Amino acid sequence: MNFKSVAIALMLMSSAAFAGIKIEEEVYVLGSPDSIKDMVSAGSVEIDHVSSEGFEAYGSKGLLKYLGSRGLVAIDMPKMNKSMFANYPSFAEMTSTLKSIVAKYPSIMKMESIGKSVKGKELWVIKISDNVEKDEVEPEFKYISSMHGDEITGRELMVSLIAEIGEKYSAGDAAVKKLVNSTEIFIMPSMNPDGSEKRTRANANGSDLNRNFPDIISDSQSSSIGREIEVQHVMKFQAGRKFSLSANFHGGAVVVNYPWDSKKARHPLDAFVQDLSNGYATTNKPMVNSREFTGGITNGADWYIVRGGMQDWSYTWFNDLQLTVELSDAKWPNDSQIPQFYKDNHDSLFYLMNQVHRGAGFTLSKKNISGSVKVVQTSPDSIDLGSYAFSDSEFYKVLPAGTYEFTVNPNGGETEVITTDVSAKSLVKNKYQKITFQPKR
Ligand SMILES: [Zn+2]
Repeated sequence: MNFKSVAIALMLMSSAAFAGIKIEEEVYVLGSPDSIKDMVSAGSVEIDHVSSEGFEAYGSKGLLKYLGSRGLVAIDMPKMNKSMFANYPSFAEMTSTLKSIVAKYPSIMKMESIGKSVKGKELWVIKISDNVEKDEVEPEFKYISSMHGDEITGRELMVSLIAEIGEKYSAGDAAVKKLVNSTEIFIMPSMNPDGSEKRTRANANGSDLNRNFPDIISDSQSSSIGREIEVQHVMKFQAGRKFSLSANFHGGAVVVNYPWDSKKARHPLDAFVQDLSNGYATTNKPMVNSREFTGGITNGADWYIVRGGMQDWSYTWFNDLQLTVELSDAKWPNDSQIPQFYKDNHDSLFYLMNQVHRGAGFTLSKKNISGSVKVVQTSPDSIDLGSYAFSDSEFYKVLPAGTYEFTVNPNGGETEVITTDVSAKSLVKNKYQKITFQPKR
C-alpha cells in the first residue's frame, strides 16, 4: 500500500479511537503545517516542532515522496542527523559513567533499572536523596530525558546534573544539601536508548513514545495494555511513586511547553503553571530571549496539539505536574556545545527541583492506608482542584500560594477535613500535616 492509499484508508476511519501512528519516515517540511492540514486531521501524519520556518512530519513509508508530489519542500531527517559528526557516548559508555558517579556517592545515590527497552537496554533511573535506601516522607521530583531518541541534549545534561549534585553535596554546598536532604529526586537520562543509538525519534518498533501514553481525551483510564514496553515501564514506575512535579526533556526548539498538550482548555492551575515555566526560562538566556516564543514559554496546545503525550497523562492520573522542556534548536547538536547548554540550563534545573516544595500534604497516623482526597483552594480564589487517590498513608500536592481545604477519605476510616496554607515567598519544607486515623464506627 503506498502512502496515498494509507492516507485515504485512514481518512475513511476518521471516527476510530486515537492511537499513535507507525513512524517509518521522519521528514522536515518547509512552510506552514496548514499545507498538510488534511493529513493531520485524518491522522495519517504527526507533526512536531512547528516554527516560522517549517515543521517535522512523521508517517509511514512514502511520506517524503508524497509530500514532494504535493509541491512541498521536504527533507529526510535521519539523513540530516547522520550527516553531523556529533560524537556522543554509546549506551554502554553512558551506563558506565552513571555507575561510576553513583558509586562515588553511595549515601545519597542509587541506580536502578525500571525495565528493559525493546532491544534489551536497561532503563536507568538514579535516585538522589539522603537516606537513599529508605522511602521517606518527602516531596518527590523527577526528570526524564530523551524519550525521543534523536533528541540527545537532555541525556547529556542529566549526566552532568547527577555528577554536580554529588560533587556539591560532598563538598558541603548548603543549597544542594538542603535540596537533597528534603527531597526524593529521580532522574532518568534516557527513556529511549534504542532510539538514541540509532539516532531516531521512535523506539525500535517505530513508535513515538510521546504519543503512546494513555490519552486524556479518549481513554477513560490509565491502562498499559498494548503500549510500547518503554511506556509500560515508565507507567509502572510512576504508579509506584508519589511524584508531584516533573519535567521531560526534548530537543528541536528552545522553550518550556506547559499543559495541556491535548486540548485548548486551560489547566486548572494555569497561572501557577506559567509561573513555574517562567521561573525555568528566566535564568536561561537563549530561552527567555527566544524570537519564536515570548519569554521562552508556550502553552502546549497553542503551539501544536499532542495526543497521548506523557505530560498530560502524568497530571491527569497521577497528580504529577509536568513541564516539557525543549533544550536545543538542533536535536543532535555538536557535542562540543553540551557544556554551554548545561550552563544555560544550570540554574533552571536547580530552580525547578526546588519548586517541589511549593505545596502541601498530609500523613496518616496509621500505616499503609489508601483512600482519596479532594483538594479545594479556598483563598485567594475558590478553585475545585479535583480528587486524587493516595496510598501508603501519604499525600502531597504542588500548589500555588493560598489556603486549601483537603477532604481526606481514608479507606476504613472517618473523613477528615484539614485546612492548610501554602506560603507565597518561602518554599515550605516538608509541610505534611499529621492526621490521626479514626476507624469508621
Ligand atoms: Zn521530543
